[in-house]
Amino acid sequence: MGYDYLSPEHMKTNERITIVGAGLVGCLLACYLGKRGYKVTVYEKRADRRKASSGAGRSINLACSDRGWQALDHVGLGDAVRKEAIAMRGRMLHSKQSELSFQPYGIGDEAIYSVSRGGLNSTLMEHAEKDFGVEFVFDMKCMDVDLENAKANFKHYGSKEIITVESDVILATDGAFSRVRGIMQHLNHFDYSQDYIDSDYKELNIPAAADGSHVLDKEALHIWPRGRYMMIALPNPDGSFTCTLFMPYEGEDSFEQLNSTEEVHRFFKEVFPDAYPLMPTLEEDWNANPQASLVIIRCHPWHYKGKVCLLGDASHAIVPFYGQGMNSGFEDVYVLDGMIDAYNGDWSKILPAFAKQRKPDADAIADLALYNYRVMADSVNDPGFLLRKKLEHRIMELYPEKYKSLYSMVTFSHIRYSEAQRRGHAQDQRFKAIIKEHDIEGHFADGTIDDFIHKNLNTLITT
Ligand SMILES: Cc1cc2nc3c(=O)[nH]c(=O)nc-3n(C[C@H](O)[C@H](O)[C@H](O)COP(=O)(O)OP(=O)(O)OC[C@H]3O[C@@H](n4cnc5c(N)ncnc54)[C@H](O)[C@@H]3O)c2cc1C
Repeated sequence: MGYDYLSPEHMKTNERITIVGAGLVGCLLACYLGKRGYKVTVYEKRADRRKASSGAGRSINLACSDRGWQALDHVGLGDAVRKEAIAMRGRMLHSKQSELSFQPYGIGDEAIYSVSRGGLNSTLMEHAEKDFGVEFVFDMKCMDVDLENAKANFKHYGSKEIITVESDVILATDGAFSRVRGIMQHLNHFDYSQDYIDSDYKELNIPAAADGSHVLDKEALHIWPRGRYMMIALPNPDGSFTCTLFMPYEGEDSFEQLNSTEEVHRFFKEVFPDAYPLMPTLEEDWNANPQASLVIIRCHPWHYKGKVCLLGDASHAIVPFYGQGMNSGFEDVYVLDGMIDAYNGDWSKILPAFAKQRKPDADAIADLALYNYRVMADSVNDPGFLLRKKLEHRIMELYPEKYKSLYSMVTFSHIRYSEAQRRGHAQDQRFKAIIKEHDIEGHFADGTIDDFIHKNLNTLITT
C-alpha cells in the first residue's frame, strides 16, 4: 500500500476528529483522516459487526462503480475490495414470457461490481483500525451535539452511561435518519426535506446450484421490469443472488395485496415465472425479511462554523435506482480530502467549501436516481427508449472518446453529477428529435447505421 500522497504539513496529529456512525461512509472517512495523521475516533450505535456470530446470515450486496473505486483506490483499499467483487457487465432483462435480453452498461471492459455490504464495511473498519490508527467505540449512540463547541454526548447501550466527547471537528455519517442532522434542523435557516417514495422494498434470495455455481448469468444485474414494480438480483461470490423486490406499499400491485403466503406464491409464479422456480426459500425469506421504505433526504447547509459537517446519507439520502448512494458518499470523502489540501487543514474553510461544491451534485444524483426508477421499472419495456439506447450505444462504440451516455457519465466517469445531469438532459432531447426526423430503426435494419452516425456526428454529440 502506498501512502506517499501524505505531505508532512498536513499531519495534524494534535487535532481530534469524532466521526458519528461506522457505516460505509464513516469507515472510509476514518481511513482517509487516520491516514493523514488526525486522531480519529468513530462512535457507532451498533455492536461491532466483525464480532457478530457469522452463520447462515443473508448476503446483502450493492453495486460499486467508478466513483466508489476512485475513493477506495486513493486510500489504497481498492484491491482489497476488488478481491471479492463480481463484475456485472450489463442489465439482463427478464420478460414476463421469460425471454432474456442483455443491455451492456458500457463499452469494452466497463462494468459495475457487486460487493457484499457487510464484507466491505468490515474491510474498511479493519484497515481503519490496523493501518490508520483509528479507534472505534461500539454500542454508543449519539444523543446530542453542542454544535458551537464540537462536543457530543453518547449513550452506551448496555450500561446506559452517557459520556461527553470533546473534539476539534465532528463529522456525522450517521445515515439517513441522522441524529446530528436532527440537531442541526433546529438552527435558524436550516433547510430540510424528507420524501418517501410510493415504493417499499424487500430482500429475497436465489440460492446457488448444488455444485455452488450461479443459476443465472453472474456477470449481469438481473431485472424483472413490470411497470409499477420490479425485482432485481445481484450475484454473490457464494453462488447465490440477492434479489430485491421494489413495489408500491399500497394500492394496485402492492405489498398490501400480498398479504398471505398463497398470494405471494401465486404472484411470483405469475409475474416472475423464470425466477420463481429458483427461489425455494421464497416463503421463508418473505416472512423473515422486513418490508423497508425508501426515503430521499435533502438539507442545507451541511456544516456548522467549521466544527460540524454531515456526509453520506446523513446529508443526502437518495433512492437506490442508480446504484449511487454509497458511491456518492465515497465521492464525498474523496472531495473532502482534496479540500483538506486545498485549504491547508483549516476546517473553517474546508467544510463550507466542501458543502458548497457537493450540494448541487447531491441534488442532481437524487433527481437522477428517482428518474432511473422509472427507467428500470418501465422504460426498459418502451420501444422508443430502447431505440434511443441502441443508437446511443452504437455511437459510444464508434466514438468512445467523443461521446458518453448519461449512464456512463454517472457510473463510469468522475464528471460532476450536476454536469452529467445537464448534459444527459440535452442528449435526451436531441435523440428524441433525431429519432422523430430519421428512420433510425431502418438504418439499423439495413446496416447503414454507422454511415448515418458518421454523417451526423456533430449533431448527435453536441452538448
Ligand atoms: C435497497 C438499497 C440498495 C442500495 N444499493 C446501493 C448500490 O447498489 N450502490 C450504492 O452505491 N448504494 C446503494 N444503496 C445506498 C447505500 O446503502 C447508502 O448510500 C450507504 O449505505 C450510505 O452510507 P452511510 O455510511 O452514509 O450511512 P449508513 O450506511 O446508513 O451508516 C450509518 C451508520 O451510522 C450508525 N448510526 C446511526 N445513528 C447513529 C447514532 N445516533 N449514533 C451512532 N451511530 C449511529 C448506523 O448504525 C450505521 O452504522 C442502497 C440502499 C438501499 C436501501
